Amino acid sequence: MKIIRSFEAMREQVQAWRRQGQSIGLVPTMGYLHEGHLALVRNVQLQADVAVVSIFVNPTQFGPNEDFTRYPHDFAADEKACRATGVTAIFQPSAELMYPADFSTWVNESELSQGLCGRSRPGHFRGVATVVTKLFNLTGAEVAVFGQKDIQQALIIERLAKDLNLPVRIVIAPIVRETDGLAMSSRNCHLSADERRDAPAIFRGLTRAQAAFAEGERNTAVLRGLVVTELEAVAARIDYVELVDHRRLQPLTLVQVPAVLAVAAFFGRTRLIDNLILSESVTTQVPERLKAEVSTFSAPPSLGAWHTACRP
Ligand code: AMP
Repeated sequence: MKIIRSFEAMREQVQAWRRQGQSIGLVPTMGYLHEGHLALVRNVQLQADVAVVSIFVNPTQFGPNEDFTRYPHDFAADEKACRATGVTAIFQPSAELMYPADFSTWVNESELSQGLCGRSRPGHFRGVATVVTKLFNLTGAEVAVFGQKDIQQALIIERLAKDLNLPVRIVIAPIVRETDGLAMSSRNCHLSADERRDAPAIFRGLTRAQAAFAEGERNTAVLRGLVVTELEAVAARIDYVELVDHRRLQPLTLVQVPAVLAVAAFFGRTRLIDNLILSESVTTQVPERLKAEVSTFSAPPSLGAWHTACRP
């Protein structure tokens, strides 16, 4: 497995892979890898000859009062996990390289990024869209896999690739969860024992709403209310619970399927997000790329306990 840190080395490697006729797949990450990331790696390995994992905590997608400085990192563990998963190369550029002092060009998606996380994190998706465009250009990716956990991000990247004619295919992969339903996230390691115990309320709320939907409930206020009730009991603050359409992420008053039920809530100081796709029938209504998530949760294969707590 190669570890690449300079643009020159990355370009030379891309040229070498292309000369050999190998297709390039990319999984962009901010590191502190867990089973959710590794599932994306396995996914990209099925679609491309080489799998590149980028590890870059992108400063421009964090707001001034967000957790950039305390974002967890453990490169040694990431390297080990990548090796064990058969990653071809890790690309880990520095912030100085990615954003030199005279950097002044931004990529701004202007529709899908308005609501949900875009509303509470101004500038976040501009940072994401910009860094992902750079990573696509630097790695020559022909296919890139993103997690449905960050569904707004994934749809924005899909849109930007289409709008800017980027020669990359975007794949959205299902959410990987802990055995109690909590969506895996690098940020889970910031949760105290009590917060970690309470955090599965997010998934409990989502599945309550999904069950009510399956029973015929179509009123979005009622469905959202089921999630809010679960969260109110334990979350420090609810950022949003919204039901939106799966293409433009516009709020719905009556559920038209497939719809996205999306949540952001704080447990202590840690902001967690999650979502679920509501659909009439997995086989007929859900777009192919979102099908996998519709079926109800089943426990993921576990790497053990290492991803559930901050590593020393
Ligand atoms: P991050 O390192 O948090 O920026 O995430 C990198 C990629 O992994 C993004 O495409 C995320 O959506 C995806 N991801 C993070 N957590 C999960 C999860 N629990 N299940 C599936 N994908 C995930």
